[in-house]
Amino acid sequence: MKYVYSFKEGNKDMKNVLGGKGANLAEMVSLGLPVPMGFTVSCDACLKYYEDEMSISSNICDEIFLQISELEKHTGKKFGDYTNPLLVSVRSGARVSMPGMMDTVLNLGLNDLVVEKFSGVVDNPRFIYDSYRRFIQMFADVVKGFDRSLFEEILDKVKSEKDVADDAMLSVDDLKVVVALFLDLYEKLDGDYFPQDPKEQLMEAIKAVFRSWNNERAIFYRKMNDIPDSWGTAVNVQEMVYGNLNNDSGTGVAFTRNPATGDNKLFGEYLMNAQGEDVVAGIRTPSDITTLNDVMPDCYKEFCDICKVLENHYRDMQDMEFTIENKKLYILQTRSGKRTGAAAVKIAVDLVNEGLITKEEALMRVDGKLLDQLLHKTFDTSSLKNGKVIAKGLAASPGASYGKVVFDVNDIVNKDDDYILVKLETSPEDIEGMAICNGILTVRGGMTSHAAVVARGMGTCCVCGCEELVIDSASKTLTTGSSIVVKEGDYISLDGSTGMVYLGKIDTVDPAIGGDFKTFMSWADDIKKLEVRTNADNGRDARVARDFGACGIGLCRTEHMFFDEERIFNFRKMIVADTVSEREAALELILPYQKHDFMDLFREMDGYPVTIRFLDPPLHEFLPNKEDEIATLANDLSVSVSFLKNKIDSLKEFNPMMGHRGCRLSITYPEIVAMQTKAVCLAAIECVKDGISVKPHIMIPLVGDVNEFKYLKDIIAPLFDSLLLEHNVSLDYKIGTMIEIPRAALTADEIAKEADFFSFGTNDLTQMTYGFSRDDASKFLNCYYDKKIFLNDPFVRLDINGVGELIKIATAKARSVNPKIDLGICGEHGGEETSIKFCNDLGLNYVSCSPYRVPIARLAAAKAAIMENDNK
Ligand code: ADP
Ligand code: MG
Ligand code: MG
Repeated sequence: MKYVYSFKEGNKDMKNVLGGKGANLAEMVSLGLPVPMGFTVSCDACLKYYEDEMSISSNICDEIFLQISELEKHTGKKFGDYTNPLLVSVRSGARVSMPGMMDTVLNLGLNDLVVEKFSGVVDNPRFIYDSYRRFIQMFADVVKGFDRSLFEEILDKVKSEKDVADDAMLSVDDLKVVVALFLDLYEKLDGDYFPQDPKEQLMEAIKAVFRSWNNERAIFYRKMNDIPDSWGTAVNVQEMVYGNLNNDSGTGVAFTRNPATGDNKLFGEYLMNAQGEDVVAGIRTPSDITTLNDVMPDCYKEFCDICKVLENHYRDMQDMEFTIENKKLYILQTRSGKRTGAAAVKIAVDLVNEGLITKEEALMRVDGKLLDQLLHKTFDTSSLKNGKVIAKGLAASPGASYGKVVFDVNDIVNKDDDYILVKLETSPEDIEGMAICNGILTVRGGMTSHAAVVARGMGTCCVCGCEELVIDSASKTLTTGSSIVVKEGDYISLDGSTGMVYLGKIDTVDPAIGGDFKTFMSWADDIKKLEVRTNADNGRDARVARDFGACGIGLCRTEHMFFDEERIFNFRKMIVADTVSEREAALELILPYQKHDFMDLFREMDGYPVTIRFLDPPLHEFLPNKEDEIATLANDLSVSVSFLKNKIDSLKEFNPMMGHRGCRLSITYPEIVAMQTKAVCLAAIECVKDGISVKPHIMIPLVGDVNEFKYLKDIIAPLFDSLLLEHNVSLDYKIGTMIEIPRAALTADEIAKEADFFSFGTNDLTQMTYGFSRDDASKFLNCYYDKKIFLNDPFVRLDINGVGELIKIATAKARSVNPKIDLGICGEHGGEETSIKFCNDLGLNYVSCSPYRVPIARLAAAKAAIMENDNK
C-alpha cells in the first residue's frame, strides 16, 4: 500500500486518502496555480500510526524521505543546507475541514547552525531569526505540548523592553535575543536541547500532527459535527514561502464571496510582513483585502483572477489562504467556504443563475441545519461578549433568546417583559407561560420531552436536559455545574440551536426570509415527491406552517386545546364525573371550543387535509397534584377534597405511557369520541357553508388491534354521516389510525382493511420498540453515546434498522390489502433529514413536522428525490 503522495500525483477527488487540504493542494498544482510544492502523508498512514502503537513504520519513513529528496530536486534546496536550506511546513488536513482543531508546524528544518550560516548569505537575515523563533515556539507547543504562553511572555517582555507594539518592528538583534531565550526555555522545559536534526524534527512533527487528531478539541468538534473518529488526518509537508521576508511580503485569507451575506464580492484580510496565523491571532489588525490593490496591484489582480479560476473550477464559493513572498503570490489552501444560512441560499441561487450549477446541485449543497438559521432569531455576534457560557444542554428548539430567569409561570409580573422559564421539566399546565417566555430551559427531559415538543411547535427557543443544573425552588436560584448561582430575575441567554446557556443578556437579530429563499424553496417543491404537512394544534401555528409551505396538517393534538383556564375546568369536571350523564354534560360544554378551534384549522388549511387525533394522554395529566391546587379544584367542582384525592389516586398508574390512554380512553368512555366527532363534523359543515374546501381526517391513536379500531369507527362514521345528512352537506372525510404500537405494525394488513390512512407515530413507536420511555431516556442515553453503544438519539434520528423495519413491514402489509391507503409519519422524525430520506425511499405519501421545520423537510424531501433519481 502506498502511503505518501506527491502533490503532482493527487487530485481533488482523493480527499479520503489525502484529506481535503492535500487533495485541493494537488488539484491546484494540476491547474498550474502558484502552489509551493510538497507531498501528503495519507490518512491511512495516520491510522497505521495508531495501529502500530504510535510509531511510524520504516516503509512509511522511507516513502517520506524519498519524497523529501524529490522535493530537494524540485526546489534546488537541501534539508539542513547552510546556504540554501529546504524549510517546510507540516500541516494537518482531514477528509473534511476542521478549522483550527488540529496542529501545524511552520519553518521546519531550521537549527542553530543553519540559522547562523544562512543569515550570513541573505540580504535580510531578520526573517530567518523571525522564522526560527516561530518554529521553536510551534514545535514546543505542538510536538511537546509545552505551554505557548510561556513563550508569548518572553516575546512580550522583549517587545516592551524595546518599546514596540508589534513583532514586525523587532530588529534582527532583538529577534536573536528572543531566539536565545526561547532555546533556554525549551531546554528548561524539556531537559534536552532543541532538536537540531531536520529529519528528526520532521518525523516528530508528523507524529504530533497525527496525535492532534485525538486532541480534546478535535474530538469535541467531531462529535458536534458527526465526523467519524475512524477517519484520521493526513499530513501535508510543503516547501515554505516567506510572508515575513520583508515589507513586500505578507499573508492573508479570503473568501471569494461574502460568507455572511453571500454577496458576490471578495471578502478577506491580509497583513504585510507576517506569517501563518498572524492574521487570525489578532496581534495586529489586518487590512481589508481590497486595499491590497493599492499596495501591490499586480498581486491583487492575479489573486482576483485565481479566485475566479477556482470558483469556476470547483463551482462553489472558496475559502483561500495565500502568502506573498517578495511580491510573488502563492496559494496555500482552498476549500469550499463555510457560510451562514442566508449566504448559503443566496450563493446557491446565484450560482444557478450564473450557469455554474444546476438547481439539483444547489439543493443538494444547502445543509438543512443552515436553513434553520433563516427561520429563527440568532444572537447578534457583536453582542456575544455580553454573555458567558455557564452550561450546555440539548439543542431542543432552535433560535436564540434572552430574558430574566423565572422558575414558575405564576411569578411572571409583566407579560411584555423578557423571561426565560427555567424548570426541572415542564408539564402541560405550563403551556401558557411557555408562550409568554422568550425561551425555555429544563433540567430533565430529552429531545421529545414535553418542553421540547411544545417549544418547537411554538417556535420558541428551548434548551432541555441540562442535567448539570440544580434548581432550588425555595430560594429561587439555579446552580450550575461550576457552582455559579443564578437568581430569579438575573438575565440569561439561550441558544436553542447549540444547547448553550449563557449568563448575561445577548442581543438577538430577527430572521430575514428574502426573495432568494422563496426561489430556492420553489425548486425544492418542484423536485420533491413527499408531501410535507405540519403538526399544529391552533390557527396561529397552522398559519406559520402555511407560510413555511406546509400542505395540510398531519397531526393536531386535540388535548392541547384543553389547557386554557376555562376549558381545563370543564375538562376536569368531565374527568371526575361519576356517571355517563354527568360526563356528557361536561363534554357538552367543551364541544363549542373544540369546534371553534377546528374551524380555525380548516380555514387556514383551505383545500388541504387536516388530521385530527382524538384524545390521547392519560387523564391524570390533566389533574393537579399540589395540595393547594387540589383544594381549590375540589371547591370549584363542589366536591370534597378527599373525593378528589381518591379520584386522582385512582388514575395514578405505574406505567402511564403504557396505561389507560389513546383509544383505550375512547373505548371506555365512548361519549368522548362522540363529542370529538361532533366537533369535527359541525366545524367542517360550517366551513363548507363558508365556501372553504375541508378535508377532515380523523385519527385514532394507540391502536394495537383491529377490533379497537373497528369499535371506534363504528361510532364515528354513523354519527358523522347522520350529521352531514341532517345539515344537508356532503364532504369527504377519512378515518385512520396512528401506527405507534409494534403490534399494530405487525398486523397492519388487518387494520388497513378498515383504515383510510396510517400515520406512523414514530415518537411512541420508538419508545415502544426500544422499551424505554422518551421522558426518562435522557438519564442514560448520554452514557450510551459516550460508550458508543448508540451513535444517535433514536428519538431524533429514526432507527432505520429497528423502528424503520416495523414501518417497512407495516407499509408492505397495508398496501397489499389497501393500495390506495395514505401513509405518512408524524413524529419528531418528520422533520429530520435521514428519516425523511427513509420515508421517501419507502414510497410513503407524506411527512408531518412542526411548523418551523417545514422548510427543512421540504428541502430534505427534494434531496431524497434527487438522490433516488441519481441512483436509478
Ligand atoms: P489550519 O488548518 O489551522 O488553517 P494550515 O495548515 O492551513 O493550518 O496552516 C496555517 C497557516 O500556516 C496557513 O494559513 C499559512 O499562512 C501558513 N502556512 C502553511 N504552510 C505554509 C507554507 N508552505 N509556506 C508559508 N506559510 C504556510
Ligand atoms: Mg488553513
Ligand atoms: Mg403517540
